[in-house]
Amino acid sequence: MSHEVILLMGPPGAGKGTQADRLAQGRSLFKLSTGDLLRANVRAGTPLGQRAKVIMDAGGLVSDEIIIAMVRDELRNRPLRLLLDGFPRTRAQAEALDELLAELGASLSAAVLLEVDEAELIKRLQSRAALEGRSDDNEATIRNRMRVYAEQTQPLLDYYQAQGKLRRVNGLASIDEVTAAISEVLS
Ligand code: ADP
Repeated sequence: MSHEVILLMGPPGAGKGTQADRLAQGRSLFKLSTGDLLRANVRAGTPLGQRAKVIMDAGGLVSDEIIIAMVRDELRNRPLRLLLDGFPRTRAQAEALDELLAELGASLSAAVLLEVDEAELIKRLQSRAALEGRSDDNEATIRNRMRVYAEQTQPLLDYYQAQGKLRRVNGLASIDEVTAAISEVLS
């Protein structure tokens, strides 16, 4: 099968996790979620997990160096059919990804943005906090994650727009409709 590397972008609470699973399955892509990898490290109590937990609970970003090394490691010897969820989140990560793919003789296929307005995001994150008890879903952390997203990750939209790779999808529709809209922009 040919190379395909898709990024799923969007603010916290936009529904990236749900759509990432569907998209990965539908297109036979390997899902790489930096949030999931970090949470697995926290659960296993690794040194990385211990450092990351403090940062995640505060709604901050784990350092580019750690994240890039983690992704590099994860991609070793893997076919280049990837769905990236939660990565890249900073300009440095985006540039590192482009370099890594270039080294492997590939390039990014598309960056899909799930667009959801802020009021809806806060509502969703608060109900997720109640349901799942994720320790980074409390109100202060949510606000910080929104701010970090606006400051560090939103500028990446211009980066991918300039490369002609950005595809926007309305994330307010039903889960099935969003899945269909993503397939549509990727076809
Ligand atoms: P969500 O999808 O709800 O925004 P994630 O599960 O992707 O959250 O990430 C949870 C937390 O893990 C982030 O708030 C951040 O602290 C850390 N994290 C995940 N991915 C990255 C990344 N690429 N760079 C830096 N920190 C990250």
